[in-house]
Amino acid sequence: MQAVRLHGPRDLRVNEVELPSLGDREAMVKVAFSAICGSDKRWYTVGTHVMPLTLGHEFSGIVEEVKDSRHQDLVGHRVGVMPLMPCGHCTYCLNGLPNLCTGYSYLGSRRDGGFAQYAAVPVQNLVPLPDSIDLADAAIMVDPVSVALHALRQGGYRTGMRVTVIGGGAVGLSVFLWLHFAFNENAVTVVDRVPEKVAFAKSLGGDAFTDSDPLLKELDSQMELVVLATPAPEAISTALELVARRGTIVMPGIPYKTISVEAMTWEKLLRKEARLIGSWNYAWTDYPENECQTTLRYLAAGTLKPTMIVTHRFTFDQAKEAFNTAFNNNKAEVVMFAASEVTG
Ligand SMILES: [Zn+2]
Ligand SMILES: [Zn+2]
Repeated sequence: MQAVRLHGPRDLRVNEVELPSLGDREAMVKVAFSAICGSDKRWYTVGTHVMPLTLGHEFSGIVEEVKDSRHQDLVGHRVGVMPLMPCGHCTYCLNGLPNLCTGYSYLGSRRDGGFAQYAAVPVQNLVPLPDSIDLADAAIMVDPVSVALHALRQGGYRTGMRVTVIGGGAVGLSVFLWLHFAFNENAVTVVDRVPEKVAFAKSLGGDAFTDSDPLLKELDSQMELVVLATPAPEAISTALELVARRGTIVMPGIPYKTISVEAMTWEKLLRKEARLIGSWNYAWTDYPENECQTTLRYLAAGTLKPTMIVTHRFTFDQAKEAFNTAFNNNKAEVVMFAASEVTG
């Protein structure tokens, strides 16, 4: 089968490889769609934990085989995939926080993922889909869409809050989709330094500004919740300007460079008694809430349509062009691979 594999930093190849071998309680998923994430850019640049490795942690497909006698009913089922593989026995796993697991594995960064025609996925990581959800929407249902929901929950979002999203990439726009389409918030602002990203956020119905727009000054200290969904290290300064007194800055965006903040800007965190909170992955235990299942419900109802933020589609043999587009084209939001039989 065809697989897009990282052999070393910046050494991406389309290889012909054997079908993955299934471990116990694993399923063979015939990949339909898989999306390139900001994390893939980091791994492409610095390498993954093991190499060569098939990248891809945002994908969907159809189950062809299950090595588990109790789950044969999954064969033929359309599924989304949760890429996080928590250990199941550390303190955090046992306390319902698998996203904070200290001994996890991960599809597409620690073991082979979904940029291939087939992927081996543990049965517990499958999200069976109702007929009303498209496979393309399902590919990005967990990451970035459930990741965005988790950020809103971490940030203590409540109806009617004034919210700004900094970062018009996949996670930032997913936060926007939740707020605008699922929670009916009409005054969400999106900030990005790239004009094309601002234009895209506007096309979805958002108020959007570049970070140098003078209009942004009017929002100074007004935002009860600021979602920092960008790797740009300077964005924290914008967040500290925008956040209201006693407001919250929640950070789902992974910075790739050292963050440095002017002392006077940092002091705003103190003077405003603002809260700065991290957000990692998504929650998928039944208590307090399985965020992937929440996302699934909104997708099934048609309230959320994640493919609104998909801008480009490629096949696996166009992998280099796809990565180049995802990382260098300012008009690219989510860039997706589609299995050849479902393209066009
Ligand atoms: Zn991702
Ligand atoms: Zn664990």
